[in-house]
Amino acid sequence: KGWVMPFYQPVVFASGRELCGVEALARWIDPKRGFLSPGQFIPCLENTRLIHKLDTCIFERVCQDIRDRLNRGLPVVPVSINLSRLDFELMDAVSGLDGIVSQYQIPKDLLHVEITESALSDDVSFLSKAVSELKERGYALWLDDFGSGYSSLNVLKDYDFDVLKLDMKFLVGFEKNEKAKPLIKACIDMANQMGLKTLCEGVETEAQADFLEASGCLRLQGFLYGKPMRKEELSAKIDSQEFKVRIEE
Ligand code: C2E
Ligand code: MG
Ligand code: MG
Repeated sequence: KGWVMPFYQPVVFASGRELCGVEALARWIDPKRGFLSPGQFIPCLENTRLIHKLDTCIFERVCQDIRDRLNRGLPVVPVSINLSRLDFELMDAVSGLDGIVSQYQIPKDLLHVEITESALSDDVSFLSKAVSELKERGYALWLDDFGSGYSSLNVLKDYDFDVLKLDMKFLVGFEKNEKAKPLIKACIDMANQMGLKTLCEGVETEAQADFLEASGCLRLQGFLYGKPMRKEELSAKIDSQEFKVRIEE
């Protein structure tokens, strides 16, 4: 019925702070219940094993939004989408995504797939197969919420991710907790040594952004650069150059 849609949150390059992408985050605007956040419907959709329907719907809406801008000759930034572990059980996620991408003829470098760390915490071979297949089919893979749960660091070794997203909890208490900075710096160094790009989530202050840039973190995401917003708002900010776009060389 069109009640579920992606909102888009900006991601910027740490150096220069230009817009380099956006993350699609699901919002449900219900005629009776009003505005619903993912925390209010995703656990329920996972428990009832319906989450793949939401994720397919969000993915299709994202592809429609990209196609619309491409058709109008407007600048487009890559979009990252979130997949749940259950998507890989409840549907053929790889073919599902590919079908929509070819329907809307979207270049694959405009789409990134985020998989949350906790989805990979125990060894599931079907999942690891699907994840490598996504990569083979040309989607960049982003490891979401790194450092937030009970994951094993081996996830970094066993899967071929392109980008490591540091969980926003790393920044909680950043100003007062002396251990936060060395911990964040060590994670970024480790990722760089493994050839993984880094993004830090939940950036809310200039001091945090400056520290992350100086520590070698490549991308930043957080309320400092914008909250998740409707596609119309994002388009207006790109078109008015309030958001300056820089696409990765
Ligand atoms: P996530 O993928 O880690 O997304 C980041 C969450 O952090 C978003 O919450 C975003 O609004 C919030 N956030 C971003 N910057 C800041 C900041 O500076 N400060 C603070 N305090 N929060 C910030 P949101 O939109 O409520 O999404 C929550 C989670 O729900 C997402 O976490 C993701 O795991 C899941 N989710 C959202 N959309 C989808 C979807 O379409 N499919 C699936 N499977 N999961 C989704
Ligand atoms: Mg995410
Ligand atoms: Mg995250």
